[in-house]
Amino acid sequence: METEVLSVEKDGLEAVCEACKEVFLAGGLAAFPTETVYGLGADGLHGENSAKIYAAKGRPSDNPLILHIGERSQLDALVTEVPESAERLMDAFWPGPLTIIFKKSALVPETTSGGLQTIAVRMPSHPVANAILKTCGIPIAAPSANLSGRPSTTRASHVIEDLTGRVDLIIDGGDVPIGVESTIIDLTQDVPVMLRPGYITLEQLRSVLGEVIEDPAIRRESIIGHMNEVLHPKAPGMKYRHYAPKAPLTIFSGTEEDVIETIRSLADDTTGILTVDEHRAAYPAERTVSVGSLKDPESIAHNLFDALRSFDEMQVTRILSEDLSEADIGDAIMNRLLKAAGGSFVTMKSEKREP
Ligand code: AMP
Ligand code: MG
Repeated sequence: METEVLSVEKDGLEAVCEACKEVFLAGGLAAFPTETVYGLGADGLHGENSAKIYAAKGRPSDNPLILHIGERSQLDALVTEVPESAERLMDAFWPGPLTIIFKKSALVPETTSGGLQTIAVRMPSHPVANAILKTCGIPIAAPSANLSGRPSTTRASHVIEDLTGRVDLIIDGGDVPIGVESTIIDLTQDVPVMLRPGYITLEQLRSVLGEVIEDPAIRRESIIGHMNEVLHPKAPGMKYRHYAPKAPLTIFSGTEEDVIETIRSLADDTTGILTVDEHRAAYPAERTVSVGSLKDPESIAHNLFDALRSFDEMQVTRILSEDLSEADIGDAIMNRLLKAAGGSFVTMKSEKREP
């Protein structure tokens, strides 16, 4: 398949929107930027069209897609009911990086919902995504625009690398602002359940809804201990190894000194090291990547997938990473990093005890 690449800067927003519309209405695939990561879109209301996404990504067909809409009025036809809790969340966070799970209407094919009777819906705030969705007028099924299992794409160059020859069109809209996927909340159960951490935090969800629980499968211990296998996660995507660079990745946790010392002692000249600006100078100049500053967790989210991908180019045989903070967006960052590591996580107990 021939893949056309258009750029918002060079070709203009209108041309880009029209090109996407043409592709989607013809049942094709187009990748475009959103505020979280790049999305790989297709017409979400015809199973034979959305099915092409699974083939292009090499994605298991039981891993459901998220429907993207440009206007709130598009929601009603897709779902059997809009609970009052959803109204409040949409008022607070739409358009934006929050995906809401509803009970699906008959209009939504099971190919799009991965065989489930529920459907995930999001209204992105990125001006390019929003303009494309408004121009098309149909709900667009769009998971992250990466090959299945690989780190999500946050730059157009990542999408070109993964999907050239597999999709009809790629829209270059520059680097995405956030860099980790949307927060997912399920409103089809008795109590709202957060299925995936993202830019919108658990605390923010609770400030709007009151009680919100976390799916046990997304907790740090679950990912480390079982890679979720025994927990039967509600978000099916959570059971697959995800976001992974080619070389195996191990995360080290403990005091700053212990972590740095251990990584330094284990690293040889085929080892990649993932660190932060504050610790960069402690490591060799080569094959060390700083993902951002501890003082600015949003910079870490923004750079994380690019950093993981950069190790592939360096052809390292393994990657040693520091534990990254867990506050606010740090929760989303560590969730992605732990999955990239396949749960390989080492906690070091300091030998220097307090008296
Ligand atoms: P991606 O867009 O690649 O991040 O993938 C979308 C993810 O959203 C899936 O892997 C699931 O984890 C989640 N998801 C989508 N639809 C549903 C649903 N109906 N119920 C639960 N989780 C869902
Ligand atoms: Mg994905």
